[in-house]
Amino acid sequence: MADSKWRRNRLLILCYHGISRYDEHVWRPSLYMDPGVLRQRLEILKQGRYNVLRLGEALRRLQTGDLPPRGVAITFDDGGYDFYAAGFPVIKSFGFPVTVYQTTYYSDYQMPVFNLVCSYLLWKGRDRVLHNPKELGLSDPLDLRTERGRMHIVRKLVRDADASNLTGFQKNDLAATLAKSLDISYDEIVSSRIFQLMNSSERAELAAAGVDFQLHTHRHRTPLEERLFRKEIQDNRQSLQKLGETAIHFCYPSGVYRQEFQNWLQMENVVSATTCDSGLASRRSNPFLLPRLVDTSARSAVEFEAWLSGLAPLLTVRKAAPQIIPAAAGRVSQSKDAAQSVLVKDDGRE
Ligand SMILES: [Zn+2]
Repeated sequence: MADSKWRRNRLLILCYHGISRYDEHVWRPSLYMDPGVLRQRLEILKQGRYNVLRLGEALRRLQTGDLPPRGVAITFDDGGYDFYAAGFPVIKSFGFPVTVYQTTYYSDYQMPVFNLVCSYLLWKGRDRVLHNPKELGLSDPLDLRTERGRMHIVRKLVRDADASNLTGFQKNDLAATLAKSLDISYDEIVSSRIFQLMNSSERAELAAAGVDFQLHTHRHRTPLEERLFRKEIQDNRQSLQKLGETAIHFCYPSGVYRQEFQNWLQMENVVSATTCDSGLASRRSNPFLLPRLVDTSARSAVEFEAWLSGLAPLLTVRKAAPQIIPAAAGRVSQSKDAAQSVLVKDDGRE
């Protein structure tokens, strides 16, 4: 199958999110992968003689019908510090090219992404019930003993923070209060760089080592107003400008896309956009709706290989119609894998 003509005319774009440095993969296996699992994946690519290409080259060759056999591209979403510390060292040891879809607004703020750190802190306190959560702005006792209970609390914290229009710094203070109430050192959380993005000097170091940085919006969001959407691309590109070539490839944050985004991306001279919808890209794929394989720890090595070879997509019965929803429908499309994306909520303030 891997040597079939069908597979030769297709590109598998792999999508990864976080690589664990502590116990993140135990906390959320759909989002974080143990570096040992990443190493196994890359070993499978190597042993299977897959041709891992740089994303831009792979997409060009897909269009011209000039892909090498067993073509693969590797992408990482968001550009967390964990990529710098745990992901890239593994990739580098295999010599594979890699693209990071980097969101940039929080890059130079040394604080963790609010919703992720809250969720992680509550999971750390998962044997507890907090009886007096007043300083968190909450009234009912907080039962952290079930996943459902913890999710409910995170949603409430995020919703209340947004409703109160808290700044990033205020949200950080709230997360610190939560940590304190759970007897967890927030200073250690912050200094560990867990749930933080790479800063500009780390990005520069990786760019010099050959990492390809591409667009993922400045604030990890896709506004529905054209001017604001395009500003997200412009600001994101501006922030990545120092790293080398102009970024022209894009990945939809959280895998969410709408029809009008394609025009706006084209107007910003973006040439490709990837989703979190599973599949292999072919010459006939819409370049602004390219499928990827979201790889997580939950996927077995056998299933991973079936995707590489091209067998899995042929066996998969299409469960749903294409995810695109016309603008007139007024709904946002979202794939089931999209929930795995890191959502950096914007606080709406520069
Ligand atoms: Zn993302």
